[in-house]
This record gives sequence, C-alpha cells and structure tokens, in this order.
Amino acid sequence: MSALCVSIHDVAPRTLEACKAIADAVEQVDPAVRLTLLVVPRYHNDASVPPEYVRWIETRLARGDELALHGLTHVDDSPRSASVYGRARRSIYTAGEGEFAALSREEARARIAAGCEWFAQRAWPVAGFVAPAWLTSRGTWEALQDFDFLYTTTLTRFWLLRRGAAAHSGLRAPCVVYSTRSAWRRIASRAWNTALVTASTRSHLVRFGFHPADAGYPGVIAHACALLHTLAAGRTAVTKAAFARSLG
Ligand SMILES: [Zn+2]
Repeated sequence: MSALCVSIHDVAPRTLEACKAIADAVEQVDPAVRLTLLVVPRYHNDASVPPEYVRWIETRLARGDELALHGLTHVDDSPRSASVYGRARRSIYTAGEGEFAALSREEARARIAAGCEWFAQRAWPVAGFVAPAWLTSRGTWEALQDFDFLYTTTLTRFWLLRRGAAAHSGLRAPCVVYSTRSAWRRIASRAWNTALVTASTRSHLVRFGFHPADAGYPGVIAHACALLHTLAAGRTAVTKAAFARSLG
C-alpha cells in the first residue's frame, strides 16, 4: 500500500490549544486520517499534566490515534559541542531543541526510560520514539536497542527497530514540514513542500509533520490542508505504528 502518516510534534499541555486546532483542521480535510501524536512528557521542563490535557489525549486514543515518545524535555542541555559543525547543527538548525543530538548511550537510556515510565503510569501505549528535531546521536541509536519500540524516524527516513538489534538503513520517507520562524521561511516552505509532494509520488510512505507553531499561521494551515487533501486521496492514512506493523 502507498501510505501517509500524519503527525503533530511537541504535544504537551503548553501546546494543547494549537494541537487541538491542527487536529481539527486535519479532521476537516479527511475524518479517516489517524494521527500520530509526538508527546513530550516534560516539555521545556514543565511536568504539569492538567486534566483537560489528559482528557484530550484519551479522546484521541479512543478514536484510533497513536502516541509516540518525542524526547523527555525537548531541550538540548548537553555541554556545547567542540566542533563548529556540531554547534551549527544543534543550535542554528534546531534553536536548542535537539535534546538527543549529543547524548551518550547512558544519558539517552535514562531519558527514554523516564519517558516510558511516564507513559506507563497513565497506561498510555507507546510504540515509537522520535528524537526532537530528528537529531539522534550515536548513543541514542545504541540506547534504542534496550527498548521495545517498533520504530523511529529521522528527517528523511523511517526505521523499524527491534530490541537488541542495530538499526538497518531505513526506508526513505519524505516529510512535509513547514518552517514558521520567519516570513520568508513560511513562503519558501510552501514552495518546497509542493515540490516535495510532486516528487514523492513513487514513495511507499510520505509523512506529514505539523508543529504547534503552524497553528498560528492561517496561510500555512490552508496550504498544508490543500496538500494533505491531495495526498490523502491517493494514499492510506495510517499511524506510524500501523505502518511499522505493515512492514512486519
Ligand atoms: Zn519536536
């Protein structure tokens, strides 16, 4: 099957209103789309879990959406990288949000374990791990071998995981994602996302990744919904876990 996975990044109490707005917009495009919600248990070190957040998450689970672990805090608080490349990659590209960009295996394991524990306390299922800003250090790849996740994703690929096994080379899976940090980026992202969708007709999987900030720009949401409408017409929209299971 040709698949489409639609996700919302950075799901947390602080971003709840934006996440709701995006989920509602997707539902208006196609009510059959099941979302993958990339949940951050302590987003920017905020450990609160208000009842309205729990209610919304459980409503989404009941309709068939999936939750994935998207870091623990989403903040890159590792010591500054010695290399110019490492600094640029971690600070310019991600605005300091690449929590797993530089972690050792032990550090990554501890944060992932804390995240899994947070899900377990609520009896919320979790089958996937997606590193913030898709920046996955070597130590994080190693740590993932100690858990039972079905999959992880990077900017350009979808990776099946198995406990104790090193990652294979991944399945190429283009991702539509908007950059909203400046006016020119918002305009440029529309052009490159349209081009990406046109170039991806043969891809087994196309991903669509919303960020809470997208909800603040009606032009971005309108453009995204139009692209989503096109993609959903020719593909089966499934959660990432369902896609991973379909690969076996
Ligand atoms: Zn994120």
